[in-house]
Amino acid sequence: MERILVSACLMGRPVRFDGQAKTVDDALLAAWRTEGRLVPFCPEVEGGLPVPRPPAEIEGGVGGPAVLAGSGRILTAAGVDVTGHFLAGAQAALAVVRAMNLKIAILKDGSPSCGTLRIHDGTFRGRVAPGSGVTAALLSVHGVRVFGEDRLAEAAGYLDELEAVRG
Ligand code: SF4
Repeated sequence: MERILVSACLMGRPVRFDGQAKTVDDALLAAWRTEGRLVPFCPEVEGGLPVPRPPAEIEGGVGGPAVLAGSGRILTAAGVDVTGHFLAGAQAALAVVRAMNLKIAILKDGSPSCGTLRIHDGTFRGRVAPGSGVTAALLSVHGVRVFGEDRLAEAAGYLDELEAVRG
């Protein structure tokens, strides 16, 4: 059975910067949970950041790939550089993916860690820009297919493909 890495906040865990969850109430996710497919994970907590924590954004909205390449930073609104924690969290996610041979992840869009198609633009004004977070980018580089929480139907299609190959 294929298992799926999932942002812990989407499963009701109160691990976001504001101490809240971002629970997704969806039949697909509920079914996968019942089947025991879901592996909840929060890169920022695993990277050593506390709950709650100051919100952070990728400077200039340049995206996770730039951070991974060493040309981008992740800062709090006060200018504290938390890049190291985000990179540590991404590496921890990759370690879980490798250990469990996961090929698919469902991640909270908009997050500087978990964003798949959108991130905040670095201005702390609630504006989003196209791009991915650090964990999403690292997992993608290593062959994991990442989907935002609003693309569960696409994720289900890919899961079917994986299961068909597995036979
Ligand atoms: Fe959710 Fe990811 Fe942010 Fe953790 S890092 S709170 S899993 S969006």
